[in-house]
Amino acid sequence: MAGKIWFVGAGPGDPDLITVKGRGLIEQAGAILFAGSLVDQTATRYAPPGCAIRDSKDMTLEAMVAWLIEQAHRHATVIRLQTGDPGLYGALIEMTRPLTAAGIEWSVVPGVSSAMASMAAAGESLTLPEVTQTVILTRVAGRTPMPEGEDLESLAQHHCTLCIYLSITLLHEVQAALRAAGWCEDAPILVVQKASWPGQEKIVRGTLADIKRKCQEAKIGSQAMIVASPTLGAADWESLVRSKLYDPGFAHRFRKASA
Ligand code: SAH
Repeated sequence: MAGKIWFVGAGPGDPDLITVKGRGLIEQAGAILFAGSLVDQTATRYAPPGCAIRDSKDMTLEAMVAWLIEQAHRHATVIRLQTGDPGLYGALIEMTRPLTAAGIEWSVVPGVSSAMASMAAAGESLTLPEVTQTVILTRVAGRTPMPEGEDLESLAQHHCTLCIYLSITLLHEVQAALRAAGWCEDAPILVVQKASWPGQEKIVRGTLADIKRKCQEAKIGSQAMIVASPTLGAADWESLVRSKLYDPGFAHRFRKASA
């Protein structure tokens, strides 16, 4: 009988940010196919001696699927290790469909996505009461076109938190879309490169007007998250609407109201 293939989220870069479940699987893996240099460290840190570890950077999807199937015929546990969460820009379904067709069992272990890691690095919150309660995870069109109705200008009309992946080289397009959607020139924008990656993380805070120049000065051209959000900088605001959950006057299932 063939082994099982696990699509494991490695987290955003820091090897300690993989889940306990993901690490446990790596520790018993017979083979690991990893995506990208950030994930390399996680794989090699936790894999057992003798584990077949291969970088997928020069492989086509077909070659990756063939390798995974071949390894599943040799080992009980085979891992496809991906950055962040496997379900975000991870070509997950393209890989699982041929596995199902080949009768190979598979499962997904979620990971900490880089949007969460970037906001954590900057000490920022994705949501704030009465400011925004919505987060959009998106990108601008590169070689992959955006489906109708999902262009950044339309999404930005919501004035909620926008976490923009895969778009740092298209920062000028991000700026144009936010302007067209009515964001002010002094709207705060956060860019984090290599969030959580030990010793390499860069955090740039700017505004819609100056974020591109600041990123150029910081020499950020890849592996970066762009966050546009009305919550940015809230740690320094004079006043804040409190979260109802912790308000003394707000009762819920686990606590009686006191005031
Ligand atoms: N599945 C991944 C996303 C893969 S797409 C996840 O959930 O995070 C690759 C994009 O993710 C990059 O272009 C960048 O925008 C973002 N990214 C990945 N790792 C990052 C990190 N450590 N810091 C900032 N952005 C990162």
